[in-house]
Amino acid sequence: TKTVTDVICPFCGTLCDDLEVVVSDDGKQLLEVYNACAIGAEKFLHSQAEDRITRPRMRQEDGSWKEITYDEAIEYTAKMLVDSKKPLMYGWSSTNCEAQATGSELGELVGAVMDNTATVCHGTSLIAVQDIGIPSCTLGEVKNRADRVLFWGCNPAHAHPRHMSRYSIFPRGFFTGKGHTGRKVVVIDPRPTDTARVADVHLQVEQGRDYELLSAFRIAFRGEKLPDVVAGIPKEQIYEAAETLKSGRFVIIFFGMGVTQSLGKNHNIDIAIAVTRDLNEYTKAAIMPMRGHYNVTGSGQVWGWQFGFPFAVDLSRGFARYNPGETTANDLLRRDEVDSVFVLGSDPGAHFPFSSVKKMYDLPSVAIDPHETPTTEVCKVHVPVAFVGVEIGGCAYRMDNVPIETRKVVEAPEGMMTDEEFLDRVLARVKEIKGV
Ligand code: SF4
Repeated sequence: TKTVTDVICPFCGTLCDDLEVVVSDDGKQLLEVYNACAIGAEKFLHSQAEDRITRPRMRQEDGSWKEITYDEAIEYTAKMLVDSKKPLMYGWSSTNCEAQATGSELGELVGAVMDNTATVCHGTSLIAVQDIGIPSCTLGEVKNRADRVLFWGCNPAHAHPRHMSRYSIFPRGFFTGKGHTGRKVVVIDPRPTDTARVADVHLQVEQGRDYELLSAFRIAFRGEKLPDVVAGIPKEQIYEAAETLKSGRFVIIFFGMGVTQSLGKNHNIDIAIAVTRDLNEYTKAAIMPMRGHYNVTGSGQVWGWQFGFPFAVDLSRGFARYNPGETTANDLLRRDEVDSVFVLGSDPGAHFPFSSVKKMYDLPSVAIDPHETPTTEVCKVHVPVAFVGVEIGGCAYRMDNVPIETRKVVEAPEGMMTDEEFLDRVLARVKEIKGV
């Protein structure tokens, strides 16, 4: 056997870069994964599953699957996209930037609406950033400088398991030599989460009242008068937490879907950024979204520099339009505005509302995914591909917008395509059909 070191974990936005993976001498079998958390290790081990699907499949009339060749899957996908007036090309978060770039070219050529998983997680954060900007930093700065850490509406103990040990609570950094004993951790969450259990302070905000509590923090920073209770929290606790933050040398605010997808949405983030700006009058403060899929940040980056918008990009008129609420995947599906669905690198079947999933089931559809998922179960064609970050490398952006080159550690099963190869072939076929 041999051990591959400095492997990047392609699961969550923390993109841990210190994994060690033991593979067989011929590089065809992955045997052990070290340093990863349980969910990260599983991702690597899934590539070795004995019941893994390695050839494309097409749904038959009776609902059963029939194995088809990659050529047939390419033909179906190319024709579906060319024949559609307005195809939805959704996902793009669990793949590399190279595939995202090829996908963008394809989307532009067929006049698709391109949307990524930000649409149901941090799209609201992106809208807020467009509104008022964002004072942010890198996770390296957090590790080396942050002595006040606020987690708002997120639970990294479950969603980003090594985030706290690598960057935010426990590690010793250049100016944070005492590790967690030198940091004060505040958690704001309606639930008593496992992250809240390791915090110094847990403010159990009432569900959906984050905006009020964030406003109260702005008032408390100035020492002005608050009502006795705000969003279920007694004012004394708010003044105390505000003092804790102000007295730090470097404050970092991490926020998750508890604030981005609850009442208030992008306005919650507007005011969270305003809180960060206020804190900078007393100390140094930064704010960062806890991005979920390992390269959802990358798809925003790639589309940002290609189209000018990070998600919900409508290319159906031959130029890029962006109007979340109108050009977002769920809104389009529920209003019957798209006539085919192409999914790559995500699982809307598991995460979209039933009404949207039902529309996907009714339309011509292709799912490109190494796994069998609820999405592949409602699509007409399933194209299994190599695991990015395990069987093929490529660029991914960490949650702090730092690009990292993922590594190939093991061979994909013989004859399997990568996302990028599949997209390249579909693009070539679409060009042929359209004569461009
Ligand atoms: Fe992978 Fe995230 Fe776990 Fe790190 S924290 S090992 S990136 S799943």
